[in-house]
Amino acid sequence: MRSALGGPRLLLRRLREVMADPVSAQVRLDKIVVHIASNMVAEVCSVYVLRDDSRLELFATEGLNREAVHLTTMRSGEGLVGRIAETAEALALSDAQSHPAFSYKPETGEEIYQSFLGVPILRGGSTLGVLVVQNKARRTYSEEEVEALETTAMVLAEMVATGELQSIARPGAEIANRRHMSLHGIAVADGVGLGHVVLHEPRVTIKQLIAEDPAREEARLDAALESVRHNIDLLVDRGNAAGAGEHREVLETFRMFAHDRGWLRRLREAIGSGLTAEAAVERVQNDARAKLARRTDPYLRERLHDLDDLANRLLHELTGESFVVSHEQMPDNAIIVARAMGPAALLDYDRKKLRGLVLEDGGASSHVAIVARAIGIPMVGDVTNVTDLVETGDAIIIDGSTGDVELRPQPDVQSAYAEKARLRARRQEQYHKLRDVPCVTKDGVKIGLHMNAGLLIDLPHVAETRAQSIGLFRTELQFMVAAQFPRGEQQYQLYKSVMDALPDTPVTFRTLDIGGDKILPYMSRLEEDNPALGWRAIRIGLDRPGLLRTQLRAMLRAGAGRDLRIMFPMVATASEIDAAKDLTMREIMHLTRHGYELPRDLKLGIMIEVPSVLFALDEILPRVDFVSVGSNDLTQYLFAADRDNKRVATRFDPLSPSMLRALKTITDKAAVHGTSVTLCGEMGGKPLDALALIGIGYRNLSMSPASLGPVKAMLLALDAGEAQAFIADKLAGTSGADSIREDLRSFAEAKGVPL
Ligand code: PEP
Ligand code: MG
Repeated sequence: MRSALGGPRLLLRRLREVMADPVSAQVRLDKIVVHIASNMVAEVCSVYVLRDDSRLELFATEGLNREAVHLTTMRSGEGLVGRIAETAEALALSDAQSHPAFSYKPETGEEIYQSFLGVPILRGGSTLGVLVVQNKARRTYSEEEVEALETTAMVLAEMVATGELQSIARPGAEIANRRHMSLHGIAVADGVGLGHVVLHEPRVTIKQLIAEDPAREEARLDAALESVRHNIDLLVDRGNAAGAGEHREVLETFRMFAHDRGWLRRLREAIGSGLTAEAAVERVQNDARAKLARRTDPYLRERLHDLDDLANRLLHELTGESFVVSHEQMPDNAIIVARAMGPAALLDYDRKKLRGLVLEDGGASSHVAIVARAIGIPMVGDVTNVTDLVETGDAIIIDGSTGDVELRPQPDVQSAYAEKARLRARRQEQYHKLRDVPCVTKDGVKIGLHMNAGLLIDLPHVAETRAQSIGLFRTELQFMVAAQFPRGEQQYQLYKSVMDALPDTPVTFRTLDIGGDKILPYMSRLEEDNPALGWRAIRIGLDRPGLLRTQLRAMLRAGAGRDLRIMFPMVATASEIDAAKDLTMREIMHLTRHGYELPRDLKLGIMIEVPSVLFALDEILPRVDFVSVGSNDLTQYLFAADRDNKRVATRFDPLSPSMLRALKTITDKAAVHGTSVTLCGEMGGKPLDALALIGIGYRNLSMSPASLGPVKAMLLALDAGEAQAFIADKLAGTSGADSIREDLRSFAEAKGVPL
């Protein structure tokens, strides 16, 4: 069997020589088709390349009329060649003309050829073109010949992918894989980023396609498989505490694939055809991708991702290439493209070189999104298939405020975005100038602007923006970016570092708000049918007092001799406040007993984000020093609409009369009880929503650093009294409108308030 396969190996060796020749792309391609035709004993060999107008263009031929090169084209789906491109599957026919899809181009002179064998030229799950051999006589192409041609097509895929063929394409017709593409995802973190693609966990570039010694390649494959399997077993055995955020289910799937007989057989066959072990993995994976990528079943697509990851692991094992891009390889304007990414991985990149992040999976509330916002890079999430569509080094532009991604942009698109980025920078400069202007509305109402934070990397923003305080410090972020559960001492170190870094800025530390959408990779996950309504935040803290007391102790120690503010999330009843205060008192007693210095002043508060609190304000407000409204969760619970479910997350507008009335109840009651109130949800950071909040009595807003400038610019131009009258009128009405957003926008426009 092996000796019969000397043919393909010889061909691959020839092709390697041709690839190394210092000749033009056309000459190279012309030589390649001659070699293939002769090696496969075919009269014709032709290469068709897919253009960005979805037509396949004849780029080279041995056997057909040479004049047809760069002239003959066909639609994807048209004729046999078009069908191969469309289905991404090989087609072998002994009597091509009797096939229903057969159509013929007179200028090529192909009517005299009876047999036809065509294979797709594939890369990363997309079809780049079609490679065809034809014979005059009727003949049946063997399975080995089909595979040999598929292997040969990999060489051509490399040529197309490098962009080498673009120079010989007909003027005006770009080849498909270099074409400009506009993609769309979810706007996650604001900003415009222009740069070049860096693939996180990059695909391995295979330098050696053709094997010198097949037996050695088999041995290399076995060793690599053994090592990958071993690593997976280790991860599975570590059980739920699996490293790197990988869940057991994914690992089990990996393990299943790693032992899959069919997969292993295909790998060995590919090596048998003359490929190196790494080229064999790529080859088999290309086929799997082409077959599965066209399936719409989400389960199968998910399996494809798993299989891709496994193949990628195997390739890294075989080539010894590192999984992460080295600092030297990072361009100065890197836009990271990944299927999914954890927050810690993003922090590993050199921040000075990061210009943006694009993910296939990962929306606005993913943990990596929090980090992207904190370090101020734009991010777009949920971009279908993006890792398959890009090549490392491709030019790319992302707009984190619209969710648009422009891949390989044309010069006009590029300059339009460059202008947008310049405009943003100019606006940023103007906001910057406003930072020392006191935040007072036109009619003299003082508004407190505060900042949300959660990591040390957030802190420099306080000085940049002159935020009055940190109105919300999300302590769970430390837990979410860590590889293991942070111990009390580590918690203490973080809180102390924050207070040391900001000696004159009050910080409101919120106790752990985990559960629901906030999952810790190293903690076993409770299977709950409704996690948003489940065991989370203060509920965990009260049921596992050891956890909450450790954190309270860390906060109290960090606040020694200073003013300390602690806030409890997700409180639903007055008794929960009593219980939380009780735990705090016990910690204070414990620290006193052990001679620790206590905070100079301690203020305790709660988040208002569960609707039950709205109807217990008279009991709740007297129990606390302050409250902060979590409008993100309050909106989700008030409308019974999951904040992370794309279908419903934006269905209801927080600027609806019902939500605004609910919010107004809080400020009204807080005024009666003399309790200080802040709002720290996303609403506060949007100028129009903030305008509404001022109109219903809010005087303190806490938001992400990037929002402080735009909100302040709005406030300086606003007459709070006018806003109040306008909204009171709207809320008194009974129009039944779902939202007052448009009315409010017109109001702002008429009054010259910038939004
Ligand atoms: C909120 O719910 O509005 C809030 C500020 O808390 P988080 O977004 O962290 O749940
Ligand atoms: Mg919340």
